[in-house]
Amino acid sequence: MRIVEVAGGVHLVTGTNVNWVVLAEGSAVTLVDAGYPNDARALLASLDALGHRLEDVEAVVLTHAHLDHVGGVPALRRRRPLPVLTSHEEARHARREYLEQMSVPRMLAQGGTPQGRRWIAQTLRAVLPHASARLREVTGVPFGEPLHLPGAPVPVDLAGHTPGHTGWLLPQRGVLVSGDALVTDHPLSARAPGPQLLPSAFSSDEPTMAARLQALRDLPVDVVVPGHGPVHRGPLAAAIDAALG
Ligand SMILES: [Zn+2]
Repeated sequence: MRIVEVAGGVHLVTGTNVNWVVLAEGSAVTLVDAGYPNDARALLASLDALGHRLEDVEAVVLTHAHLDHVGGVPALRRRRPLPVLTSHEEARHARREYLEQMSVPRMLAQGGTPQGRRWIAQTLRAVLPHASARLREVTGVPFGEPLHLPGAPVPVDLAGHTPGHTGWLLPQRGVLVSGDALVTDHPLSARAPGPQLLPSAFSSDEPTMAARLQALRDLPVDVVVPGHGPVHRGPLAAAIDAALG
């Protein structure tokens, strides 16, 4: 686990090849995403390392309902019945009214390189024996309205990686938590670290993802906090151009 402060009260935490965000306002906390199932202990440890207790966490908000972003939620909710929020569409995905996630055969097909085999091994270790995560209680929220939660995150439409994929804008801090719509690195990436899209195999609709990113390019954002890879500092429009170029 690695923790980096990206802005006042905003910490990026990296678990098993995936990030979550501890968004604090005083002692109160909103978590953005929750890592893989077996990142749950690291998730709790990250709160502890930042001087918070689980009782300080008021909610978990999700970028999307893939296993590497919701995996820690059941373990958290067993300890404390936290509300979980995301866009209306992604809430359906989290409830598993449908599943848009890389299939196991497609995952194993990544094993043609040493890099791919290492990623598969790390992923299995982070997941097993919890191969699925269906969240029964998830609240859908509309895009564009700040939530009454610590840090007042604003859900923004970044569909494409999944049909309801949601970015979380922190307007006062100039931060966009971009989830998997815009990342900066991944174990399977062929690119050097920097703004980029995930390898195509991971996303359900890349043209939509590109269009949604373009629609946000003029937001006053100069810190991009991705679902995978390190924080990126610089204007959002330039980061989007680099990713799509
Ligand atoms: Zn991911």
